[in-house]
Amino acid sequence: MTTLDTIVSLCKRRGFVYPNSEIYGGIAGFYDMGPMGHLLRQNMKKLFWEFMLVDHENIFPIDGTIITHPKVWEASGHVGSFADAMVESTGGHAGNKRYRADHLIEEMYSEAELRSADLAAKKEGMSSIEAYSILLKGKKAPDGGILGEVKKFSLMVETSLGVVEGDKKSAYLKGEACQTIYLDYQNVLDSMHPKIPFGIAQIGKAFRNEVANPQFMLRLKEFEQWDMQFFVNPKEMDTWYEYWKEQRMNWYKSIFNDKENLRFRQHRDDELAHYAKKAFDIEYKTPSGWKEGEGIHWRGDWDLSRHGKYSGHDFTYTDAETGEKFIPWIVETSGGVDRTFLFLLLDAYKEDGDRVFLKLHPKLSPYTVAVFPLVRNKPDITVKAKDVYKHLKLDLKMSTAWDDRGNIGKRYYAQDEIGTPWCITIDYTTLEDNTVTLRDRDTATQIRLPIDKIREYVFTRMQV
Ligand code: ATP
Repeated sequence: MTTLDTIVSLCKRRGFVYPNSEIYGGIAGFYDMGPMGHLLRQNMKKLFWEFMLVDHENIFPIDGTIITHPKVWEASGHVGSFADAMVESTGGHAGNKRYRADHLIEEMYSEAELRSADLAAKKEGMSSIEAYSILLKGKKAPDGGILGEVKKFSLMVETSLGVVEGDKKSAYLKGEACQTIYLDYQNVLDSMHPKIPFGIAQIGKAFRNEVANPQFMLRLKEFEQWDMQFFVNPKEMDTWYEYWKEQRMNWYKSIFNDKENLRFRQHRDDELAHYAKKAFDIEYKTPSGWKEGEGIHWRGDWDLSRHGKYSGHDFTYTDAETGEKFIPWIVETSGGVDRTFLFLLLDAYKEDGDRVFLKLHPKLSPYTVAVFPLVRNKPDITVKAKDVYKHLKLDLKMSTAWDDRGNIGKRYYAQDEIGTPWCITIDYTTLEDNTVTLRDRDTATQIRLPIDKIREYVFTRMQV
């Protein structure tokens, strides 16, 4: 299986991901996108929007801000309770180390043991922190140290607004991107006039002071979420929940090679939010186990009722046909762009003998095609190659790379590692009959193709 280290090194070497502030020693939990990462991410987002806006009806896109009215986070329940249970080990081989208590518990206990511990804790009326402490305190941590008391650790990232000292007001960076969807719900309803059921989708940044040690892009302090909140009549909640659960899984399956590395995981009762009847995560099998990529959440009327209560706004919806009045219930699909980015790279990384290639869906690859002149020192060939390059890039608007460094073998190697599906070489024969060689990333086989057939070939092959 591909290791995380392999991907981390490829990401740096080939311009996908760079550690943020690296010249200052880096800052844990923050990463920048390099040129290849930027292009891959743009393509991922394009497919997300295609799924939401083209493949589905009645979904509206918005872009909310990162800072909102501070009251939003009181209403949402984040201030005060958006906290992780943290436990510190002492005396381990790497000094003191912090862990997320729930993660350690899942590693140390079986599902059956957890269910019975949960029942016992409920019977005693214990808080989850107290229950976690009983399971962990005094136990040996993975680093060899001994675990202490479990404590609450706020995840919200605070900032302040205002320039005059003493007059500054505290605000929070979004702890989850979706809150602006609830804030804009009424505006979308009034300006776009959709009828329930309808959805609002957004790709937005979220910030969390995560406790657990960062594991590359799995757990960042600044990250991006792609969310959709679907507003429904409470009577139809079950149907829509099942609908979106299947839809989102099918979408992920459509962009991954190894479908068996995707699964649903249902939340245990003790993990469920109090308003949720059920919750499922879409998980991907990484080298360090199954990890959540997206949550399909049953939010009921929690969000609109809470914002109604805190703002005084009445969110009652009246069905124009039946006259029925209700606060809409919400099915949420909330996924991580960064985690999906990493999962896609793990899924795409393939070795074929000495050859390494990224088998990305052609719609996701940073470059769709690369154009090479066979040799650099023959003006006829380089001029012709530049013409083909410009034709693909400017006329056909394809994401096109140019490479005339080193030999052809090295150029293939470089394009394979960034996942370019097709490499086109202009050679002596091109000058005679206007054909090129087109080499396939996944099979490393070559065909000859007239220049005016490249468009049709590539566009057809992209529809996989
Ligand atoms: P976890 O239990 O792993 O911390 P979560 O259940 O808190 O995740 P949600 O609040 O449901 O996550 O967020 C939805 C999605 O956002 C997650 O499925 C994940 O893909 C992404 N996400 C959440 N936290 C992070 C993070 N710190 N870094 C990167 N992505 C994240």
